[in-house]
Amino acid sequence: LNMDEVNLETLIEDVFLMLGEKAALKNITFHKKFIGNGTIYADSQRMKQILINLINNAVMYTPEQGEVTVRVREQTETVILEVQDTGIGISKKEIPRIFERFYRVDRARSRNSGGTGLGLAIVKHLIEAHKAKMSVESEVGKGTTFRISFYKQLLNEKREE
Ligand code: ATP
Ligand code: MG
Repeated sequence: LNMDEVNLETLIEDVFLMLGEKAALKNITFHKKFIGNGTIYADSQRMKQILINLINNAVMYTPEQGEVTVRVREQTETVILEVQDTGIGISKKEIPRIFERFYRVDRARSRNSGGTGLGLAIVKHLIEAHKAKMSVESEVGKGTTFRISFYKQLLNEKREE
């Protein structure tokens, strides 16, 4: 990993621009909400890959007129990044499996979206490489939130060097 100080706001804006056309085709709107400073210690290329995968999923699995909200919240010891959508959701039973390579919920339903089922396996791997933690909350028919916590300790250590 090529670790350095990374500003999440810039990365999120880049990814919104990248996926903007795809979202616009479905009339999906992007929102970005910040509480505190969104600076973390990370590999910026890899971090962008994480955001592309999560935001692309949010767009892909959200019906027309939906919303995708990316939140960054600084807390005492962590920076929390959330990607929330108003999409189809994932059942409790499926959630543990979505990070497996090539796993896709309901192949028939997702066949047309043309994915391979690798996106979240890659995200999981990259999150672990960053010593960050990821969790998922979802309700079928309502939407899904992927939440990642980054430890500020890593950034503080870097700054003290
Ligand atoms: P790709 O390799 O192109 O990303 P994919 O999107 O199918 O293909 P993953 O990103 O790994 O693969 O996601 C795995 C499965 O988890 C998806 O096929 C989908 O069923 C489910 N999923 C992922 N994100 C969401 C989401 N935001 N809302 C609903 N279901 C989701
Ligand atoms: Mg995907």
